[in-house]
Amino acid sequence: MSTDLMPNRYRPGETVLPARESQLIARRDGVLGASYRLQYRRPVHFVRGEGMWLYDPDGRAYLDFYNNVPSLGHCHPEVTAAMAEQASQISANTRYLEPRLVDYAERLVETFPNEIDRVVFTCTGSESNDLALRVARYASGNEGVIVSSYAYHGTSAAVAEVSPNLGDAVKLSPNVRMIALPGPEGVPDDQAADFFEAQIRSAIQDLNRRGIGVAALLIDSIFSSDGVWVDPPGFIAGGVAAVREGGGLFIADEVQPGFGRTGDHMWGFERHGVVPDLVTLGKPMGNGYPIGAVVGRQGPMELFGAIARYSNTFAGNTVGIATADAVLTILKRDRILQNALATGQYLRAGLEQMAKQHDGIRAIRNAGLFLGVDMAREGTPAAGRRGMALDVVNAMRDDGVLISTTGANEDTLKVRPPLVCQTEHADLFLASLERALVKVAG
Ligand code: PMP
Repeated sequence: MSTDLMPNRYRPGETVLPARESQLIARRDGVLGASYRLQYRRPVHFVRGEGMWLYDPDGRAYLDFYNNVPSLGHCHPEVTAAMAEQASQISANTRYLEPRLVDYAERLVETFPNEIDRVVFTCTGSESNDLALRVARYASGNEGVIVSSYAYHGTSAAVAEVSPNLGDAVKLSPNVRMIALPGPEGVPDDQAADFFEAQIRSAIQDLNRRGIGVAALLIDSIFSSDGVWVDPPGFIAGGVAAVREGGGLFIADEVQPGFGRTGDHMWGFERHGVVPDLVTLGKPMGNGYPIGAVVGRQGPMELFGAIARYSNTFAGNTVGIATADAVLTILKRDRILQNALATGQYLRAGLEQMAKQHDGIRAIRNAGLFLGVDMAREGTPAAGRRGMALDVVNAMRDDGVLISTTGANEDTLKVRPPLVCQTEHADLFLASLERALVKVAG
């Protein structure tokens, strides 16, 4: 596993930057905590966003193929209007009676299978996962958590401990078990489900032998930080059943795939034909406003709610709710899922075409507008593949198109544009990728 916490980043001394940026970096370094990293070898500096585009202080436009938070496009005017209007009236909290909170909660649960009908609001994806783990541990009476081997689930103490993606220096909980995924292990599709289930069964056996037991299987159903492993649809179902048999809950982390990114469904877990016990939401829910939620079955939510009070100062505040409500309305009205599906297919077809000319593209995976593109020829050593992916990402950044890397070896291009991406944007992205491949190969 990678020990470099964020390979696609600025390293002081490696790149010469203009005075405006180097002075700002010096000021950041003088006052911000040391845990921040700046993305790209040459950091980007933006002052404005609109739709698919971000603008630097000189007015140069960058095409955003990376940010999934503003899934309706940067600064969507109807979303910012809803936010501003509510902020100018009141921002109440969940301890006061407030119809908008209930209206939105009702609309949100309607987008889920019938079994899932309770919501608790949060402010971030990390908080959603943190709460879901508390609920699962209480409802199951167990402590163990099963995650994928390069999973990222957030920043709180409890979720950092179940996020192997944070690197060797961040200690994992003794109660976590990591499972290998069939895709990265090269398991053929027709054996993927059995492989996944077998990994889970042995993790449960180990947790049971140590008296820990299984509280939850916590997975991002498109395995985005593991390198985007979406196929074959349904491959997780046997593993989910095994967890339930072992007394644990299935928590679907929908921070990445949720709210329509996969195009075929509103929620990533639907691709696999399974219904979770708890679902965690974040990022695109407010198109930039910090709002998240745990949505779940009544059973575990009631058990937990009976013993534990849970609300916090900002989660479910009326401004966040009004914003999320506008997002949901626009998602449906503007047929955003259909667009994600169609543009995702268009992008994939373009990449497949390009792969015929450039053997630097080793594999392409996608669900809607989440694409993973493995770099470099089969058999290239890991360091070479990662180097190539980073060179491509940074050549594209210099060319005015934003993407990044993912996967255990960070040698997969992570392509994740706002869901309003059109074919004209896809063409610009494809042309930039082609230029980058030529540049890197030459
Ligand atoms: N889960 C997943 C799958 C994520 O990708 C992230 C954020 N990258 C989180 C949880 C944490 O969300 P947040 O940064 O809002 O706390």
